[in-house]
Amino acid sequence: MATVTRVLPWRRNSQPPAEEVAPLVAAFRAHHPKANPLMITRAYEVAAQAHRQQVRTSGESYIQHPLAVARIVADLGLDDITIAAALLHDAVEDTHITLDDVTAEFGPDVAGIVDGVTKLERIQFDSKEAQQAATMRKMLVAMAKDARVLIIKLSDRLHNMSTLAAMPAAKQERIARETIDIYAPLAHRLGMQDMKQQLEDLAFATLHPKRYAEIDHMVSARTPERELYLAQVLEDVRGRLAELHIAADVTGRPKHLWSIYEKMVVKGKEFSEIFDLVGIRVIVETVKDCYAALGSIHATWKPVQGRFKDYIAMPKFNLYQSLHTTVIGPGGKTVEVQIRTREMHQRAEYGVAAHFGYKGVDPASDMP
Ligand code: MN
Repeated sequence: MATVTRVLPWRRNSQPPAEEVAPLVAAFRAHHPKANPLMITRAYEVAAQAHRQQVRTSGESYIQHPLAVARIVADLGLDDITIAAALLHDAVEDTHITLDDVTAEFGPDVAGIVDGVTKLERIQFDSKEAQQAATMRKMLVAMAKDARVLIIKLSDRLHNMSTLAAMPAAKQERIARETIDIYAPLAHRLGMQDMKQQLEDLAFATLHPKRYAEIDHMVSARTPERELYLAQVLEDVRGRLAELHIAADVTGRPKHLWSIYEKMVVKGKEFSEIFDLVGIRVIVETVKDCYAALGSIHATWKPVQGRFKDYIAMPKFNLYQSLHTTVIGPGGKTVEVQIRTREMHQRAEYGVAAHFGYKGVDPASDMP
């Protein structure tokens, strides 16, 4: 079983890709319909072979972890190089495979990313301050070279957080704390809002299980009432935009539990104050339509003084763009509105990852 073969395992005649990798290939193809997935299937074979004798604390075979991380990366729309690197991200650290093997088989790009992730993995510090500052600094250094390293690292953390229950309690807490202190802010920094919120909610459930359950319960209890009101607002906005011939996707904004908790604890607000505040999002085709939609909404409902923000003309530091306004909606209730184009929306949700996935630029040379 433990015999080391002289021939590198992935240099054997290549077999048809295992069924296990098919969903990953499909996720890649969803964003890159014409691309060849060969590098991904080969990276899978190599990783599966290298990790074949390892199991995770949860009891599943180790390859499930790099597969899941690669899947998160693929769903973000990244290319085959990044997905291959995600599949191999623990191979150099944890198996007999060397960085030279990766370079020889997959080229310097994949190897460079795997090396970056491996180096981040090795950073360990005693004090929390040292840990935070140094890790952040290392990450930023790595980011300057290649943001794909950080996207894989965040995806790695997201999968580890979702399988955290298998760990001893003290370790769970340490990892969750680190996720809130370092990784969620990093995701925010990179403009990866969706990643940030998922990390925060998973960490929240670990750090404050009772509060999490409580808020989760309050949210479910109040949801039907809120949904009714939201449906009325959405209907109104859709109707008005249709009259103006503005093609728009109008949806409600989901609340994430950690932000409710934060507002209750940090700002001392009541649950109802936060939860009853309905948020909607209007996605249109052009910038011109953004302002037209805003005009229509302001003409319908009275805007709240001082709440209009034009992040289209003045983007945020992480390149976030959107129009924000708050209006007094039907029944005198406050409604928060975000208006943006589809492209701005991709960037708002997936940040730097959207940048790589959609522009097809050389990430090393064109960092936002
Ligand atoms: Mn990992």
